[in-house]
Amino acid sequence: MKTVLITGGSRGIGQACVLAFARAGWQVAFSYHTQAEQAGQLVERVRQQGGAAACWQADVADSSQVDRLFARAEEAFGPIDALVCNAGIAHQGLLTDMTDAQWRRLMGVDLDGAFYCCRRALPAMVRRHQGSVVLISSTWGVTGGSCEAAYSAAKAGLIGLAKALAKEMGPSGIRVNCIAPGVIDTEMNGGLTEEDLAALREETPLGRQGAPEEVAEAALFLCGEGARFITGQVLGVDGGIAV
Ligand code: NDP
Repeated sequence: MKTVLITGGSRGIGQACVLAFARAGWQVAFSYHTQAEQAGQLVERVRQQGGAAACWQADVADSSQVDRLFARAEEAFGPIDALVCNAGIAHQGLLTDMTDAQWRRLMGVDLDGAFYCCRRALPAMVRRHQGSVVLISSTWGVTGGSCEAAYSAAKAGLIGLAKALAKEMGPSGIRVNCIAPGVIDTEMNGGLTEEDLAALREETPLGRQGAPEEVAEAALFLCGEGARFITGQVLGVDGGIAV
């Protein structure tokens, strides 16, 4: 049985990934940051459906917590076959109003977190000559989002990280890809007004927000055998908004 480690599995896209991988027969190790109860309920839900899941608390912006997360996951399930770096935070506002602390926190969670996870996951994947990594970027990392400059920079950074790692790790049999979701219906967009959402829907050729499950299906595909010749790619799951 294969094992996936998913960061930020307690809510939204991460939660949909936990359920999708478990349903497909993977053992799922996932992390949460603040939502312990929700994460625990998700583990129960997977187990009731006959799957295998376990979760641990970790702030991905702290490398020692990331290292501890991996150690616990490996102890529970054995070697990690796939990594989905999903944990993330957003920040809306003018760049000129952003404090040093806000900038550093966003980079810490959205970009450093993926670095810490990849650094911890890759050596074992290299030894086993197999593995797949998916970084959850964003359409704003591709096109840039107004009033989301730091977020766009971090998410563009993930794309550079994935492409560089695809080259570095390809000879070791490891694939690294990004998903760039468009506007997905999760709590992350809870701060947007109905007017903002309507404008975003209008910009989206398919005319609606995406569902977390639609991103999860793409992550599952990229980690699976069907994607064995795919690496260094940025898969838009965005209803066409970036076209
Ligand atoms: P949510 O806000 O719904 O969920 C965020 C998840 O990340 C939660 O599980 C949360 O844990 C976890 N998390 C937050 N901060 C940390 C941290 N410091 N350390 C560890 N985990 C943390 O977000 P979405 O599901 O919408 O987003 C998931 C990913 O998809 C993010 O990377 C986001 O940038 C990206 N994305 C989302 C889009 C959207 O429209 N929703 C569009 C494009 C990209 P907890 O619940 O325990 O606090």
